[in-house]
Amino acid sequence: MIKQFIETLSQKNKSLKHLYSLIREHGPVSKSELIERTGLKQTTCTRLIDELIEKQLIVESGLGESSGGRKPLIYQINPDYYYLFGVDISRTHTKVLLMDLNLDIKEEALFSMNEESTPEVTINFIENEIINMLHTHQLNTSRILGIGIGAIGPLDRENGKILNPIDFPTKGWNNVPIGKILSEKFDTKVLLDSGVNTAVVAEYKKGLDKEVHNIIYCLSGIGIRVGILNDGHLVHGPADNLGLFGQGHMVVNIHGRKCVCGSYGCMHAYSTIPAIKEEVIHSLKRGHDSVLQEKLNDVGQVTFSDICWAVQENDALCSHIVKDAAYYTGVGLSNIINILQPQLVILNGPIHTQMDLFYEVTKDIALKRTTTIYPGYDVQFSRGELGENAAAIGAGSMVFDYYL
Ligand SMILES: [Zn+2]
Repeated sequence: MIKQFIETLSQKNKSLKHLYSLIREHGPVSKSELIERTGLKQTTCTRLIDELIEKQLIVESGLGESSGGRKPLIYQINPDYYYLFGVDISRTHTKVLLMDLNLDIKEEALFSMNEESTPEVTINFIENEIINMLHTHQLNTSRILGIGIGAIGPLDRENGKILNPIDFPTKGWNNVPIGKILSEKFDTKVLLDSGVNTAVVAEYKKGLDKEVHNIIYCLSGIGIRVGILNDGHLVHGPADNLGLFGQGHMVVNIHGRKCVCGSYGCMHAYSTIPAIKEEVIHSLKRGHDSVLQEKLNDVGQVTFSDICWAVQENDALCSHIVKDAAYYTGVGLSNIINILQPQLVILNGPIHTQMDLFYEVTKDIALKRTTTIYPGYDVQFSRGELGENAAAIGAGSMVFDYYL
């Protein structure tokens, strides 16, 4: 039935779809609240609810709060009517989640991206995990509503292609028709969007307090990606598919460092894992004091984990470099915040989650440069509620949204 919601509908089916969408969004919810939200007559609403129950699209989920008399029955969607797969492809990992329609995770699998993670290897991993999960949960492909993918751009969303992302640990990621491949393999709908966009959708639909409708989501790691939710809607621009590198190339220092994009002083040139690593290596080679000098035989081999460890040990050199990198993210973010005035800024990705110092400095700088301009503007910051699963959860949610 949900799959038919996408087709041209009779008036009755439109009403069923509308009611079902409201129950998904606000459930568990009582009949009187649904009548209030839809303006339907009580008899019509009762008839539609009965039909949704009969078709097993919704279930009674207990009794709600009484506003005087008897406690009312409340309704929610049947989470097991269909299942969703959410896939997150980043430069560091690929994750596959099996979820029910409440976006509750039934099973997950993770694959680290390394020099061998060609598109073939990665897609093989995704296909095998989907097959294994279907088998474990005794589901056949007809029970799958679809597969959503959140990936690194640039993307051709319409045709489900990953175009030519930079900084992947292996070559071959050029015009990869992942949507077509998975859709043919599993005979199901496959949708593709940027992982940061799916992450912000996931936090909105699943993670957060429902009153927050304006959110900026910044993912920092090997690159920087920003997703924007405005009044509950994802912002897509006409150049979404063309952007070579994403939003990390906002200039934060016009006379600054040369960036890989050819410009000078981009956030990307300061605030990514490769940029921080390069700074640390340069300083160690120049002989600056650091706990890393004793830990490593070859300072040229310093890793992101080494730097995280050194920062935790209060190493002055690494702490200084990390604060400096966070400063530039804070400046870039304050530019975006001052224009869009979101209620919430979510900072996620390995740099923010594995280095409290980076997260705190970014937040302080962005906040300082925002409240100076708008005194009393109370923008909130967090690392999100869904952690590293956000991009994959939102990818699955995107498929459900498509049908509704
Ligand atoms: Zn750049």
